[in-house]
Amino acid sequence: MADLLELSARIIDSGHADQPVNRTTNELSEIADGLAMVESFSHSVVVDAGDGLIAFDASHVRTGQAVVDAIRQWRPTPIRHLVYTHGHADHVGGSTFFAADHPVVIGHENVAKRFDRYTFTSNWNLLINARQFGGISGDLNLSMGVGNGEGGVAMTPNPNARRFLPAGTLRPDREVGLFDRMHIGPYEVEFHHARGETDDHLWSFFPEQKWVMTGDFLIWNFPNAGNPQKVQRYPIEWAAALRAMIAREPELLLPAHGLPIAGKERIARVLDDVATALEQLVADVVAMMNAGETLDTIIHTVKVPADTLAKPYLRPLYDEPEFVVRGIWRQFGGWWDGAASRLKPSPDAHLASAIAELAGGADVLLRRAEQAMGDGDVRLACHFADLAGWAAPDDPTIHAGRAAVYLQRRKTESSLMSKGIFAAAARESQVVVDRTTGPSDS
Ligand SMILES: [Zn+2]
Repeated sequence: MADLLELSARIIDSGHADQPVNRTTNELSEIADGLAMVESFSHSVVVDAGDGLIAFDASHVRTGQAVVDAIRQWRPTPIRHLVYTHGHADHVGGSTFFAADHPVVIGHENVAKRFDRYTFTSNWNLLINARQFGGISGDLNLSMGVGNGEGGVAMTPNPNARRFLPAGTLRPDREVGLFDRMHIGPYEVEFHHARGETDDHLWSFFPEQKWVMTGDFLIWNFPNAGNPQKVQRYPIEWAAALRAMIAREPELLLPAHGLPIAGKERIARVLDDVATALEQLVADVVAMMNAGETLDTIIHTVKVPADTLAKPYLRPLYDEPEFVVRGIWRQFGGWWDGAASRLKPSPDAHLASAIAELAGGADVLLRRAEQAMGDGDVRLACHFADLAGWAAPDDPTIHAGRAAVYLQRRKTESSLMSKGIFAAAARESQVVVDRTTGPSDS
């Protein structure tokens, strides 16, 4: 079935995504002879190597069983090799369902270090993922696995929360450094390391067939190179990896999210567009850093052209350019944003109380937030909503207003990360309201 390839060709060539491109159906499609893809919450790309299968990524712990079931229906052959494109939970968490076949697990040498970090910061990762992915349905009752803290909206980890990285996750048996090559059945497979979304990425290349498995170097969204809650990403190296792929002239591209792509020229055009967007952002930010500009000036100046962001594989529906700008600042600078008062700031609540006193009360600040929202100045509105909330941490009326501001803000945003964080802000305030007035049934 070449349905997915026809679909991606039509979408790329027309420039319009008239249907979803990031699908998680857990259905398997045969892409070429002996090559299939299960579309899931991270796909699994599978190659039939004769007496065994090679799977690229294991999907998430919640989808791994369905992915393995789909593979079994395609081929009963055991999965003898499992390649991790990187160690994110949605790519490795399902490996526990691959374990029965005792595959050789291949991954970059930083995957094991990532797993150890996930154990060290397990609850933190549960909390930030609850925020990141908690803003899409609009359901404020989505469980975050947290309880409300004392006297405010601080969150404490739920001791019963599950582990961020599932206990049965397979660790790599064969660790790859910069480069490795294996012969598996009739195939030669190359493993190339590069940093990009993570520091443990591998992209794989079949030189004879001209197949490239990109992992998350292509996600059919604006590159996830600026995630506000997560560790450093590497946009320059990301772009360089895309250029290294182009140089190998792949004719079939299998990503870990989004649609597969056929055609040397089409693949090169897509990879070049993504690389160029990242290179331009880095160039613009670093030029301003070299000119001594502050982060404040840079984030409000550097933009990605609208026609770039309109491309079906560069839409800012997950991450967004403004966050990548901050990531570049962090990569080459420090955490300080250049405003002297924020080097060693007053506590937020102390500053907010002083401003509320000057203004005539927290309710005045909230009204200013609502006015700004009405004027369409959503950024200013959120500053005043936060100041009002900090000045009156236990006031249900203030917090009902703050929740409303953030729910409106969420609607104005395109990226999952912004929607998630703003929905979480609304949930924080809703906790204060519920504590005083009893839970709503919303
Ligand atoms: Zn991913």
